[in-house]
Parts: sequence; C-alpha cells; structure tokens
Amino acid sequence: MKIAIFSTKPYDREFLLAANKEHSLHFCEERLTLESAIFAHESEAVCIFVNDIADAAVLKALARQGTRLLLLRCAGFNQVDLAEATRLGIEVRRVPSYSPFAVAEHTLALILTLNRKTHRAFNRVRDGNFSLDGLLGFDLHGSTVGIIGTGKIGCLTARPLHAMGCRILGYDTFPNEDFTREGGTYVGLDEIIAESDILSLHVPLTPETHYIINAESLARTKRGMMLINTSRGALVDANALVGALKSGQVGYVGLDVYEQEAEVFFQDLSGEIIQDDTLQRLLSFPNVLITSHQAFFTSTAMTNIAETTLQNVADYEDRRSSANEVKCSGDR
Ligand code: NAD
Repeated sequence: MKIAIFSTKPYDREFLLAANKEHSLHFCEERLTLESAIFAHESEAVCIFVNDIADAAVLKALARQGTRLLLLRCAGFNQVDLAEATRLGIEVRRVPSYSPFAVAEHTLALILTLNRKTHRAFNRVRDGNFSLDGLLGFDLHGSTVGIIGTGKIGCLTARPLHAMGCRILGYDTFPNEDFTREGGTYVGLDEIIAESDILSLHVPLTPETHYIINAESLARTKRGMMLINTSRGALVDANALVGALKSGQVGYVGLDVYEQEAEVFFQDLSGEIIQDDTLQRLLSFPNVLITSHQAFFTSTAMTNIAETTLQNVADYEDRRSSANEVKCSGDR
C-alpha cells in the first residue's frame, strides 16, 4: 500500500523503516494542511502526528485523491474531524497506548526539575557559580498531588509520587479502581483545584476539557502551587496562566504542550524571531519549564508507534476490526 507520511523527522523515518516490510512509504517533512495534502496524491493511506490538520476541508481533499485510511501516530485524535471522516468513508486508526510510562516519567522529570531547579544548577555550576541562593526546593514527601484524568498515564504518574510519600488526589468522569490501588483518592474538580500543591493534567482535549484550567480556576488554587501539563495545550488558557505567574498565584509551571505549539514545536527556530508573545512571556519566567512535546519520546515508544501503525495497516487490509479504530462517537 502507498502510505504518505506527514510531519516526518529523521527519527520517524528510522523507526517506521525498521518496522516496515511490505509497504511503499513516502515521507513528507511538512505538516498535513490543505496546501500540503497534494503530497498524498493516490496514497490509500495517510499517516499523521499531533499537529497535523485533518479538518473537513483537508479530509475532502484527501478523499478526492484516493485516501481511505488515516493513520494517527499518536493517541489523541482532537485534530481529526471524525464526523467528516465517516461521511467520506475514511477509516481512522490510532496508537492508543505506545508507552504511558514514557509520558508519566517525563511528568515526574518536570516536577522534580522545577522543584529542585537542577536545570538552573547545571548552568550555574558550569559558570563557576556554586551559590545556593534561589535554588531552594520543598520536600515532595507530604505534598498533595492532584491528578486530573486518572487513565493510563494519570495512574502511572500517581504511582511513584505515592511511593515518595505524596497525598494523591484524583478527578475523572470515569473513576477506576487502578487509581485507588495506586493510593489515590477521588475528589471533585473544585476540591482538587483548591487542595493540590502540584496539579498534573492527564485528560484528553475535548469540548468539556478545553481550558479546564482558566483564570477562574487558577484564582482558586493554593498560592504558589505547581501546574504540570503533559496532555494537550488547550487544556490551559495560557494567557490566564501568564497572569497567575505574574501575581505569584502559580509558583511553578511545567508544560510539554502548548495551545499554539503547531507553529513552533518540533522545529529549530533558534535563529528566528518567535512571533508568539504569550509563549515568549512564558519562557521569560524563571519558574517555567517548557519542553517541546517530547514526553512520548523514548525508543520504546517510537518502536511501539511504528509497529502499531503498520499493524493498523495490516488490520485494515484484512478487514479486521480493532480497538485502535476511532469512530465518530469514539472514546474521547
Ligand atoms: P486514557 O484514555 O487512559 O485516560 C484519560 C482519562 O481522562 C480517562 O480516565 C477518562 O475517563 C478521563 N477523562 C476524559 N474526559 C474527561 C473529563 N471531561 N473530565 C475528567 N476526566 C476525563 O489516556 P492516557 O493514555 O492516560 O493519555 C492521556 C492524555 O495524554 C492523552 O489524551 C493525550 O492528550 C496525552 N498524551 C500526551 C503525550 C505527550 O507526548 N505529551 C503522549 C501521549 C498522550
């Protein structure tokens, strides 16, 4: 099968080529947009990542060119107009879980780095500055950690933090026993926002979770709390977050995702003028740590993404239904 693969970096090629045995893979570095869709001409399958656009107009263009299968190299599918895909007869298959461990571990890395400021200490010591001023942290032991979204990643984030002596609170529309087994206690949204010293987001982006963290919820947090988002950028109103950082209401922020990340993440813009003023303001705070949507980025996860994507093609060709199919009324 001819597969057009968008948003490809050298590492995507490496892992997909290693997993591929029989298909004709065509790599495109550009994101999928209405303009770049022509690259997929006569490709029965199109493979995309988190910041590609698969809205109604793009899907129509793909369908006209012969695309029948949309492969997501990710779990989230908020970038796809599923209703339009169904209308056009385009099947959508995703990789629901490639390594929840990778994302949970990165979440922990952000929490530990922000708290103990090892990123600042690294630069300071290399510059011959051995002073401790400004590096004061707090014991995680005894802190209250709120996990919003207690699915696979939320549970795995709770596990090490509980082992370190944190009190773990959870909020989810579908509570599950795994979370309570990890030592978590379910509370309501208002309570988790008000009681957490560290609040970590692990819900998918849906109309219900869009801006779940906004000016009003930030005003109700503990003063000086830590907010971590490794899920999807638009869970947080970034402009409201800038205000909360300026006032000191929020004391630490760790972001692996950002609402407008499609314009900047995954690219080397070190010689360019970044036009996004909100992102630049966030980067100017000493207590903000931003990574470029890299939480998933381990060799284990990349291998799983490539192998599951090609298994999704095999299942499609053999007309095998699979839990990786994303339906219009899917499990958002
Ligand atoms: P999951 O489906 O296992 O868990 C999501 C949880 O969110 C579920 O328990 C669900 O009930 C809950 N939920 C859904 N809507 C809700 C709502 N409105 N209010 C409260 N809870 C709600 O998913 P997962 O594998 O744990 O992944 C979580 C998210 O992590 C994904 O949706 C994706 O956006 C993000 N992610 C990020 C990266 C990265 O590299 N940064 C990688 C993979 C996944």
